[in-house]
Amino acid sequence: MADRGYLIAGNWKMNGNLESATELSSAIVGGASNILETVELLLCPPAVHLQATAAAISGTNVRLGGQDCHEAESGAFTGDISAEMLANMNCSYVIVGHSERRDAHHEGDALVWRKANAALRAGLAPIICVGETEQERLSGNAEEVVAKQLKASVPDGVDGSRLSVAYEPVWAIGSGRTPTEEEILSVHSAMRKALKDLLGHDAGDSIRLLYGGSVKPGNAAEILMLSEVDGALVGGASLSASDFLSIALAVK
Ligand code: PEP
Repeated sequence: MADRGYLIAGNWKMNGNLESATELSSAIVGGASNILETVELLLCPPAVHLQATAAAISGTNVRLGGQDCHEAESGAFTGDISAEMLANMNCSYVIVGHSERRDAHHEGDALVWRKANAALRAGLAPIICVGETEQERLSGNAEEVVAKQLKASVPDGVDGSRLSVAYEPVWAIGSGRTPTEEEILSVHSAMRKALKDLLGHDAGDSIRLLYGGSVKPGNAAEILMLSEVDGALVGGASLSASDFLSIALAVK
Protein backbone atom coordinates (compact mmCIF):
# COMPACT_ATOMS: atom_id res chain seq x y z
CA MET A 1 0.00 0.00 0.00
CA ALA A 2 1.28 3.49 -0.85
CA ASP A 3 2.35 5.73 2.03
CA ARG A 4 -0.28 8.36 1.52
CA GLY A 5 -0.15 10.32 4.77
CA TYR A 6 -3.27 12.05 6.09
CA LEU A 7 -5.05 15.22 5.06
CA ILE A 8 -7.40 16.99 7.50
CA ALA A 9 -9.19 19.69 5.55
CA GLY A 10 -11.50 22.35 6.99
CA ASN A 11 -14.26 23.64 4.73
CA TRP A 12 -15.46 26.85 6.37
CA LYS A 13 -18.21 27.28 3.77
CA MET A 14 -19.86 30.75 3.83
CA ASN A 15 -19.09 31.54 7.48
CA GLY A 16 -17.16 34.10 9.45
CA ASN A 17 -15.75 37.54 8.91
CA LEU A 18 -12.28 39.02 8.62
CA GLU A 19 -11.70 38.98 12.39
CA SER A 20 -12.96 35.45 12.95
CA ALA A 21 -11.05 34.08 9.94
CA THR A 22 -7.83 35.57 11.30
CA GLU A 23 -8.53 34.34 14.84
CA LEU A 24 -9.47 30.84 13.73
CA SER A 25 -6.47 30.37 11.48
CA SER A 26 -4.08 31.81 14.09
CA ALA A 27 -5.52 29.51 16.78
CA ILE A 28 -5.10 26.49 14.48
CA VAL A 29 -1.50 27.45 13.75
CA GLY A 30 -0.91 27.97 17.48
CA GLY A 31 -2.18 24.50 18.36
CA ALA A 32 -0.72 22.54 15.46
CA SER A 33 2.63 21.66 17.02
CA ASN A 34 1.44 18.35 18.58
CA ILE A 35 0.03 17.01 15.35
CA LEU A 36 1.88 14.13 13.71
CA GLU A 37 4.16 15.04 10.81
CA THR A 38 2.25 12.64 8.60
CA VAL A 39 -0.88 14.79 8.98
CA GLU A 40 -1.33 17.75 6.65
CA LEU A 41 -3.74 20.49 7.77
CA LEU A 42 -5.67 22.44 5.16
CA LEU A 43 -7.91 25.49 5.63
CA CYS A 44 -10.48 26.40 2.99
CA PRO A 45 -11.94 29.78 4.01
CA PRO A 46 -14.42 31.84 2.00
CA ALA A 47 -12.56 33.42 -0.95
CA VAL A 48 -12.74 36.92 0.53
CA HIS A 49 -10.80 35.67 3.57
CA LEU A 50 -8.04 33.86 1.69
CA GLN A 51 -5.63 36.74 2.05
CA ALA A 52 -6.09 37.08 5.82
CA THR A 53 -5.85 33.33 6.28
CA ALA A 54 -2.74 33.17 4.09
CA ALA A 55 -1.12 35.82 6.27
CA ALA A 56 -2.02 33.97 9.49
CA ILE A 57 -0.57 30.63 8.28
CA SER A 58 2.44 32.10 6.48
CA GLY A 59 5.68 30.27 7.28
CA THR A 60 3.87 27.23 8.75
CA ASN A 61 2.98 23.81 7.31
CA VAL A 62 -0.75 24.62 7.34
CA ARG A 63 -2.04 24.75 3.77
CA LEU A 64 -4.59 27.00 2.09
CA GLY A 65 -7.33 25.94 -0.32
CA GLY A 66 -10.31 27.31 -2.24
CA GLN A 67 -13.85 25.97 -1.86
CA ASP A 68 -14.52 25.97 -5.61
CA CYS A 69 -13.11 27.34 -8.87
CA HIS A 70 -14.31 28.20 -12.36
CA GLU A 71 -13.13 26.06 -15.26
CA ALA A 72 -11.74 29.03 -17.26
CA GLU A 73 -8.53 30.87 -16.55
CA SER A 74 -10.15 34.32 -16.84
CA GLY A 75 -13.00 36.07 -18.63
CA ALA A 76 -16.53 37.42 -18.37
CA PHE A 77 -17.74 35.22 -15.50
CA THR A 78 -19.17 37.62 -12.95
CA GLY A 79 -18.74 36.45 -9.39
CA ASP A 80 -16.53 33.48 -10.26
CA ILE A 81 -12.93 32.78 -9.28
CA SER A 82 -10.39 30.93 -11.40
CA ALA A 83 -7.98 28.27 -10.21
CA GLU A 84 -5.15 30.58 -11.27
CA MET A 85 -6.51 33.29 -8.95
CA LEU A 86 -6.52 30.80 -6.08
CA ALA A 87 -2.95 29.76 -6.86
CA ASN A 88 -1.99 33.42 -6.91
CA MET A 89 -3.40 33.73 -3.35
CA ASN A 90 -1.05 30.94 -2.19
CA CYS A 91 -3.62 28.17 -2.31
CA SER A 92 -2.32 24.68 -2.97
CA TYR A 93 -5.69 22.87 -3.00
CA VAL A 94 -9.23 23.47 -4.22
CA ILE A 95 -12.43 21.56 -3.41
CA VAL A 96 -14.48 20.71 -6.50
CA GLY A 97 -17.85 18.97 -6.78
CA HIS A 98 -18.98 19.58 -3.20
CA SER A 99 -22.56 18.36 -2.90
CA GLU A 100 -23.74 21.86 -1.95
CA ARG A 101 -22.46 23.06 -5.37
CA ARG A 102 -23.83 20.01 -7.15
CA ASP A 103 -27.22 20.65 -5.55
CA ALA A 104 -27.60 24.44 -5.30
CA HIS A 105 -25.66 25.26 -8.50
CA HIS A 106 -26.66 22.17 -10.50
CA GLU A 107 -23.06 21.13 -11.08
CA GLY A 108 -22.68 17.70 -12.68
CA ASP A 109 -19.76 15.32 -13.13
CA ALA A 110 -18.72 16.76 -16.52
CA LEU A 111 -18.31 20.24 -15.02
CA VAL A 112 -16.52 18.79 -11.98
CA TRP A 113 -14.10 17.08 -14.42
CA ARG A 114 -13.43 20.42 -16.14
CA LYS A 115 -12.92 22.17 -12.80
CA ALA A 116 -10.53 19.45 -11.63
CA ASN A 117 -8.55 19.88 -14.86
CA ALA A 118 -8.55 23.65 -14.36
CA ALA A 119 -7.11 23.14 -10.89
CA LEU A 120 -4.31 20.94 -12.28
CA ARG A 121 -3.63 23.50 -15.03
CA ALA A 122 -3.09 26.14 -12.31
CA GLY A 123 -0.82 23.87 -10.27
CA LEU A 124 -3.45 23.22 -7.57
CA ALA A 125 -4.38 19.81 -6.18
CA PRO A 126 -8.15 19.29 -6.56
CA ILE A 127 -10.15 17.50 -3.88
CA ILE A 128 -13.00 15.90 -5.80
CA CYS A 129 -16.11 15.31 -3.66
CA VAL A 130 -18.45 12.43 -4.39
CA GLY A 131 -21.28 10.86 -2.41
CA GLU A 132 -24.71 9.31 -2.58
CA THR A 133 -28.06 10.79 -1.58
CA GLU A 134 -30.10 9.17 1.15
CA GLN A 135 -32.39 7.61 -1.45
CA GLU A 136 -29.43 6.10 -3.29
CA ARG A 137 -28.09 4.72 0.00
CA LEU A 138 -31.47 3.20 0.86
CA SER A 139 -31.69 1.61 -2.58
CA GLY A 140 -28.33 -0.09 -2.01
CA ASN A 141 -26.60 1.89 -4.77
CA ALA A 142 -24.03 3.92 -2.84
CA GLU A 143 -20.92 2.14 -4.16
CA GLU A 144 -22.18 2.22 -7.74
CA VAL A 145 -23.12 5.92 -7.58
CA VAL A 146 -19.77 6.94 -6.13
CA ALA A 147 -17.74 4.86 -8.63
CA LYS A 148 -19.73 6.37 -11.49
CA GLN A 149 -19.14 9.92 -10.20
CA LEU A 150 -15.41 9.20 -9.94
CA LYS A 151 -15.15 7.72 -13.41
CA ALA A 152 -16.78 10.83 -14.86
CA SER A 153 -14.88 13.44 -12.87
CA VAL A 154 -11.30 12.26 -12.33
CA PRO A 155 -8.82 13.79 -14.84
CA ASP A 156 -6.67 11.47 -16.97
CA GLY A 157 -3.16 10.60 -15.90
CA VAL A 158 -3.40 12.05 -12.39
CA ASP A 159 -1.95 10.50 -9.24
CA GLY A 160 -1.89 11.08 -5.50
CA SER A 161 0.66 13.87 -5.73
CA ARG A 162 -2.00 15.99 -7.43
CA LEU A 163 -5.42 14.60 -6.48
CA SER A 164 -7.42 13.69 -3.39
CA VAL A 165 -10.97 12.37 -3.30
CA ALA A 166 -13.53 12.95 -0.53
CA TYR A 167 -16.39 10.55 0.07
CA GLU A 168 -19.17 12.73 1.45
CA PRO A 169 -22.58 11.05 1.70
CA VAL A 170 -25.02 13.89 1.02
CA TRP A 171 -27.26 12.81 3.90
CA ALA A 172 -24.37 12.91 6.38
CA ILE A 173 -23.29 16.49 5.68
CA GLY A 174 -24.29 18.81 8.50
CA SER A 175 -26.82 16.27 9.81
CA GLY A 176 -24.94 14.75 12.73
CA ARG A 177 -25.45 11.34 11.10
CA THR A 178 -22.62 9.19 9.77
CA PRO A 179 -22.47 5.91 7.88
CA THR A 180 -21.44 2.80 9.82
CA GLU A 181 -17.78 1.77 9.73
CA GLU A 182 -18.72 -1.07 7.36
CA GLU A 183 -20.49 1.36 5.02
CA ILE A 184 -17.48 3.72 4.92
CA LEU A 185 -15.12 0.78 4.33
CA SER A 186 -17.27 -0.58 1.56
CA VAL A 187 -17.50 2.75 -0.31
CA HIS A 188 -13.80 3.51 0.18
CA SER A 189 -12.81 0.14 -1.23
CA ALA A 190 -15.17 0.69 -4.21
CA MET A 191 -13.49 4.08 -4.75
CA ARG A 192 -10.03 2.55 -4.57
CA LYS A 193 -11.00 -0.07 -7.14
CA ALA A 194 -12.52 2.57 -9.46
CA LEU A 195 -9.36 4.70 -9.22
CA LYS A 196 -7.09 1.72 -9.96
CA ASP A 197 -9.27 0.76 -12.94
CA LEU A 198 -9.11 4.33 -14.23
CA LEU A 199 -5.50 5.29 -13.55
CA GLY A 200 -3.62 2.04 -13.09
CA HIS A 201 -2.66 0.23 -9.91
CA ASP A 202 0.08 2.51 -8.57
CA ALA A 203 -1.52 5.86 -9.39
CA GLY A 204 -4.89 4.64 -8.10
CA ASP A 205 -3.27 3.39 -4.92
CA SER A 206 -1.48 6.71 -4.28
CA ILE A 207 -4.62 8.89 -4.07
CA ARG A 208 -5.79 9.95 -0.61
CA LEU A 209 -9.39 9.06 0.14
CA LEU A 210 -10.95 11.39 2.70
CA TYR A 211 -14.23 10.84 4.52
CA GLY A 212 -16.51 13.85 5.08
CA GLY A 213 -19.90 14.23 6.73
CA SER A 214 -20.46 15.13 10.40
CA VAL A 215 -16.88 14.36 11.48
CA LYS A 216 -16.49 15.60 15.07
CA PRO A 217 -13.91 15.12 17.83
CA GLY A 218 -16.12 12.34 19.25
CA ASN A 219 -16.16 10.15 16.13
CA ALA A 220 -12.90 11.14 14.40
CA ALA A 221 -10.69 8.42 15.90
CA GLU A 222 -12.95 5.56 14.86
CA ILE A 223 -13.36 6.93 11.32
CA LEU A 224 -9.69 7.84 10.79
CA MET A 225 -8.48 4.42 11.89
CA LEU A 226 -10.38 2.67 9.11
CA SER A 227 -8.21 1.27 6.34
CA GLU A 228 -8.50 3.32 3.14
CA VAL A 229 -9.47 6.44 5.12
CA ASP A 230 -6.61 8.88 4.59
CA GLY A 231 -8.12 11.93 6.21
CA ALA A 232 -11.26 13.96 6.68
CA LEU A 233 -13.06 16.84 5.04
CA VAL A 234 -14.60 18.70 7.97
CA GLY A 235 -17.37 21.28 7.71
CA GLY A 236 -19.06 22.49 10.91
CA ALA A 237 -16.36 21.27 13.30
CA SER A 238 -13.65 23.12 11.35
CA LEU A 239 -15.08 26.43 12.59
CA SER A 240 -13.76 25.66 16.07
CA ALA A 241 -9.97 25.56 16.35
CA SER A 242 -10.08 23.13 19.27
CA ASP A 243 -12.49 20.75 17.50
CA PHE A 244 -10.51 20.88 14.26
CA LEU A 245 -7.24 20.24 16.11
CA SER A 246 -8.81 17.39 18.13
CA ILE A 247 -9.84 15.75 14.85
CA ALA A 248 -6.28 16.07 13.52
CA LEU A 249 -4.92 14.70 16.82
CA ALA A 250 -7.18 11.66 16.46
CA VAL A 251 -4.90 10.32 13.71
CA LYS A 252 -2.75 7.65 15.39
C1 PEP B 1 -18.79 19.37 4.30
O1 PEP B 1 -19.58 20.24 4.03
O2 PEP B 1 -17.85 19.09 3.51
C2 PEP B 1 -18.96 18.66 5.55
C3 PEP B 1 -18.35 17.51 5.70
O3 PEP B 1 -19.75 19.26 6.49
P1 PEP B 1 -20.03 18.74 8.01
O4 PEP B 1 -18.70 18.29 8.57
O5 PEP B 1 -20.58 19.92 8.71
O6 PEP B 1 -20.98 17.60 7.89
